[in-house]
Amino acid sequence: MTFIIKCLDCGHNTPYYPTSTTCPKCNSQWREAEYDYELISKTLRPKLAKRRLGLWRFKELLPVRNPNASLSLGEGGTPLIRAVNLGMMLGCPNIYIKDERQGPTSSFKDRQAAVTIAALKEAGITEMVAASTGNVAISYSAYASRAGMKLWAFVTSLVPGVKMREIALYGSQVIKITGSYDQCKQVAAEFARQRGLYQDMGARTITSIEAMKTIAFEIAEQLTAIEEAEDEEMWRTPDWYVQAISGGMGPIGVYKGFREMQQMGWTDRIPAFAPIQAEGCAPMVNSWKKGLEKAEPVTSPMTRIETLATGDPGRSYEFLRSYVNSTHGAFESVSDEDAFRAMHVLAKMEGISAEPAAGVAFAGLFKLIRSGVIKPSDTVVVNCTGHTMPADSSILGENWSRDVKFPTLSETPQEGLLSALTQVAPERFPKIVIVEDTTEARRLIRRILQSQGNFTILEANNGREGLDLIQKELPDLVILDLMMPEMDGFTVIQALRSNQETATIPVIVATAKELTPDEKNRLGGQIQALMQKGDFLNDEFLDEVKALIK
Ligand SMILES: *Cc1c(COP(=O)(O)O)cnc(C)c1O
Ligand SMILES: [Zn+2]
Repeated sequence: MTFIIKCLDCGHNTPYYPTSTTCPKCNSQWREAEYDYELISKTLRPKLAKRRLGLWRFKELLPVRNPNASLSLGEGGTPLIRAVNLGMMLGCPNIYIKDERQGPTSSFKDRQAAVTIAALKEAGITEMVAASTGNVAISYSAYASRAGMKLWAFVTSLVPGVKMREIALYGSQVIKITGSYDQCKQVAAEFARQRGLYQDMGARTITSIEAMKTIAFEIAEQLTAIEEAEDEEMWRTPDWYVQAISGGMGPIGVYKGFREMQQMGWTDRIPAFAPIQAEGCAPMVNSWKKGLEKAEPVTSPMTRIETLATGDPGRSYEFLRSYVNSTHGAFESVSDEDAFRAMHVLAKMEGISAEPAAGVAFAGLFKLIRSGVIKPSDTVVVNCTGHTMPADSSILGENWSRDVKFPTLSETPQEGLLSALTQVAPERFPKIVIVEDTTEARRLIRRILQSQGNFTILEANNGREGLDLIQKELPDLVILDLMMPEMDGFTVIQALRSNQETATIPVIVATAKELTPDEKNRLGGQIQALMQKGDFLNDEFLDEVKALIK
């Protein structure tokens, strides 16, 4: 794998580690991946014919060293659909919809989650924090479950209940922040800092930008196939790329994708970019229209379209502004009502039911065509970024979210934040040691525990290591296998029970083995519960764990 991380401010190059998020030389958080384009431009194209559709088709241009196929949910490779009826209606026949609703969790955030989780997993990270207006957390939650990672999902209380339940459904802890999305990000950042956890940094996350650029690769490849272009060597690019934006990560990544293809000689130009915002929260559009170089934040977003409620875009605006200007594109904003109407038109004309945020992109398209910015002969690709899927409220039970109020002005911000966060989770979680020699079984137990409760989980892969770990950590509970190398479970139990410090620690024996009556006798009175593997999917296991810990 041939890539390095280049600082966008000082040009310093470093190898890639997902956990190092700043330039070691100048401390900048704005860095991007660079590949050996000359080599890849020659070697990758011939390989594509034999590869399946999907984001990993372009793995040589992604910052994951050994993509782990078992984490994949079939991300990327969404269809590019010609909007024939809309085209007729608008007098602009070449409108295409990149249908990102068809991602595994129904939004284009699946690309971001798939690549980021793959990179984090590769780096050995097992727990992370993300702030979200809904879809990012849904997607991270789904991929985290496959990777055996715990996700703390911070969302604003305005995120629709169906989306919050979807996040919880995949086994993540939802934390509702009463406050703006920008405040929600602050609370999440503080939580991550206090606990030393990896935190998603939005557009500053290298993997997110890299993931989004695959949208550009796919658009060019698909457009070339659809138009049956004579010269297949040179991929076609549209005249416009239209997308609804919040923080602007999508178009920043998509721009990089087009730029890389141009650099590799796969295409000859970059489309005009049209980022669209909701009027009630349009800091980038307003700043661009005023000719500002830096964005004026919107402190109180006034839109019902929560997905797009980033009030302070920070430096993302500066990047997008230069891309929009250099491609002769345009920023535009639309009202919530226009977005809802566009949603309805899209459903009625093209059979596509999108979420309001995607409706914003279509309302923007209508506006730009009507005002003559987009010409009737232009080829336009609109990113249909997502679709709301409801999670049934009845299957989650109680307590799947926690409420945090952002500190009021009367409290000092730091104290207020600290006390707000103690409501999210206590300082210390019950500690559980898993002693189990098979990786798969350890991972399964870890996943069951972390998806339904908050525990500090420690692992050992044989009896001897397990005993040392238990004596050192004095956990609240031990989950123990019987048949293990070095020292078997029976011996571990004996050792625990004969030492005063560990004599009363509850032990659940989890074993795949059919126990003989003699073995059952040996365990009698020494352990608190016996679980046969396969029983794990029952609620019993967790009830047992919770009852023993108290
Ligand atoms: C996140 C999101 C957006 C905005 O994306 P950015 O490129 O990060 O600004 C738009 N639509 C949907 C459905 C989203 O989930
Ligand atoms: Zn630097």
